[in-house]
Amino acid sequence: MTDHTSVADVVPDVAPADLAVPTRDGPLATAQAQLANAVERLGYDPGMHAMLGTSRREINVAIPLRRDDGSTELFHGFRVQHNVSRGPGKGGLRFHPSVDVDEVRALAMWMTWKCAVVELPYGGAKGGVAIDPRHYSQGELERVTRRYTSEIMPMIGPERDIMAPDVGTDAQTMAWVMDTYSVNKGYTIPGVVTGKPLEVGGSLGRATATSRGVVHCVVAALAEHGKTLDDVSAAVQGFGKVGSHAAVFLAEGGARVEAVSDQYGGVHRSGGLDLPRLMAHVERTGSVVDFDGGEPIDNTALLALDVDVLVPAAVEGVLDAETAGQVQARWVVEGANGPTTPDGDRVLADRGVVVVPDILANAGGVVVSYFEWVQAQQAYWWTETEIEQRLAERMAMAFESVGKTARHRDLSLRDAALLLSVQRVATAHQTRGLYP
Ligand code: GLU
Repeated sequence: MTDHTSVADVVPDVAPADLAVPTRDGPLATAQAQLANAVERLGYDPGMHAMLGTSRREINVAIPLRRDDGSTELFHGFRVQHNVSRGPGKGGLRFHPSVDVDEVRALAMWMTWKCAVVELPYGGAKGGVAIDPRHYSQGELERVTRRYTSEIMPMIGPERDIMAPDVGTDAQTMAWVMDTYSVNKGYTIPGVVTGKPLEVGGSLGRATATSRGVVHCVVAALAEHGKTLDDVSAAVQGFGKVGSHAAVFLAEGGARVEAVSDQYGGVHRSGGLDLPRLMAHVERTGSVVDFDGGEPIDNTALLALDVDVLVPAAVEGVLDAETAGQVQARWVVEGANGPTTPDGDRVLADRGVVVVPDILANAGGVVVSYFEWVQAQQAYWWTETEIEQRLAERMAMAFESVGKTARHRDLSLRDAALLLSVQRVATAHQTRGLYP
């Protein structure tokens, strides 16, 4: 319990049972369990708990697409602003067939904590469209993106809610969002999205920022045990925007990256993979599968490999009680959002595995998103060196404060990161007061 002042007098006493209740076991159940834990530690009352656990705004839109063959197909899209107490909503846009409102709610909540843990002046938001982008042409994806943007237009903007790439979207998607928004407003507004192409106001270093941040966290976590990248082996699950660059940076730093995987399968070589050659293979074939510099391995077996560092950088929920029980790594550094379930977390803790949680480990992306937004607002561009330095400083600062809280309060890094971020959001909320 802390010296928290009750907010029961200013926040209606909503029972936590009234929170957005997850309809299935999944990311929202994980996010709500993590929040409940932090709320209990902080001694907050049910009113504050309900406020922190409920999205401020949600929009659910239907997106009709005219397909290239002339037929029409309908998709469902969402934008959720989980919290805006510390600033505008901030968070990615996901295109994936399994997107639903609960997943987007969870991802938006994690954005709130992520921005707070690295002390950005943002709340948290997320968007998603239930579509498998691999099955649609560029023209079709452009039409889906523009229609989605147009449907959620009143909710977004550089001062309201700022989008960025996530699973299934990229810099081009952000250019379409920015263009649709700008054309409708009548002038160019680059600050409505981050992760844009450089030509239209993107930032140097943004494309690799999440991966750099992951590696800063690996280095910081190893340093606490007197180790460096040269001393360790690693496995990376997911070879997309985050995992691929993380694997390369780990290898460049001296780590032996023994296995990587994508949604089609994985590749393993004790002693380390030849990353430059693997990257060339992926560029040619679109997958790590069939790379001749290693043996095939599946995604579950990769999690159980005898390596020092495991970086889950794919999707949510891969480390549950069962898979976590097989983890041999001593450090798990979460490149993905929500890769570990609460049960998985308990198992990893019991086994003495150090978990650097998602909201800290993958925050490098949103940190450089913030730099991109600041540059856009000022129309003044920083050098890559400036960006890399500021990112490294910001990650080191956040790692240090989370580590300190963990040590002082005898908490895991996840519990410490959540405690700090939930407290920062709650304090902002209390300081602003309740309107009316
Ligand atoms: N989609 C990324 C994330 O989950 C980046 C979000 C952003 O830059 O706004 O952190």
